[in-house]
Amino acid sequence: MKHKGLLIDVTKCIGCRACAVACAEANNLPQEESLQLSATHYTVVQGINNDQTFVRRLCMHCNQPTCVSACLVGAFTKMDTGAVLYDENKCIGCRYCMQACPFEVPRYEWGSLAPRVQKCRMCYERVEAGGQTACADACPTGATAFGDRDELIKEARKRIDENPGQYIDHIYGLTEAGGTSVMYLSNVPFGDLGLPTNLPAEPIPDLSWRVLSQIPKYTVTAGVVLFGIHWITSRRAEVARFEAEERKRSPERNTTHTGERPRR
Ligand code: SF4
Ligand code: SF4
Ligand code: SF4
Repeated sequence: MKHKGLLIDVTKCIGCRACAVACAEANNLPQEESLQLSATHYTVVQGINNDQTFVRRLCMHCNQPTCVSACLVGAFTKMDTGAVLYDENKCIGCRYCMQACPFEVPRYEWGSLAPRVQKCRMCYERVEAGGQTACADACPTGATAFGDRDELIKEARKRIDENPGQYIDHIYGLTEAGGTSVMYLSNVPFGDLGLPTNLPAEPIPDLSWRVLSQIPKYTVTAGVVLFGIHWITSRRAEVARFEAEERKRSPERNTTHTGERPRR
């Protein structure tokens, strides 16, 4: 199967949240509005500039994901559809994936007795069966489009070229962190959308002990390694802060999260 992806065109998004509602339904998650990703929100719609602009957040399904390389037990896999999937049966709960992800995506089920990491699955089963993702299916404006990644890149380039001045001349996700399956077009700076703008175009190297012990086998520049070390170090502090907040909130989620597995 060809590498699939999502193109999110911020200029077309009206903030209706149909994508988030469809995602919750497709994944058997509670229909609770949220502005932040959580173990029960695989995608959210955030308003910026006093709700003049709306942007979706979700896993970017990186071409060479740091969650995959950071996981000591291989709980994450990049599939041929482009989706990055998580296997709860392999997960040992170390949460290195949360620290490693440059887009701050994976969330932990703090309210569960058998916690799992949760994130968007790029509707793997639907896509493998020839369908499109639930969010793209539900989007009324085409702000979320699903397709072959190559075709989405062509379409994005066409929109930029045919509408001079309407878009920032960059497809976010084309090269960031080595490229991602989820890409963005925007008329406002990508940093204003909350997307990291300091990522190298090369994949962020694997800094787990597994790779550190084999680093001579990898062709990585010193700059990229240093960036990775800096990234992981600062992410540790961020994740620690985030986890403290999540723990405080978890009693509420204890009463709402069913513990059911997503419908697959
Ligand atoms: S965005 Fe984060 S969780 Fe998603 S594939 Fe990339 S590294 Fe993994
Ligand atoms: S691709 Fe599927 S799982 Fe991911 S946000 Fe869209 S509907 Fe949710
Ligand atoms: S369904 Fe489409 S238009 Fe509505 S919030 Fe989601 S991406 Fe934006």
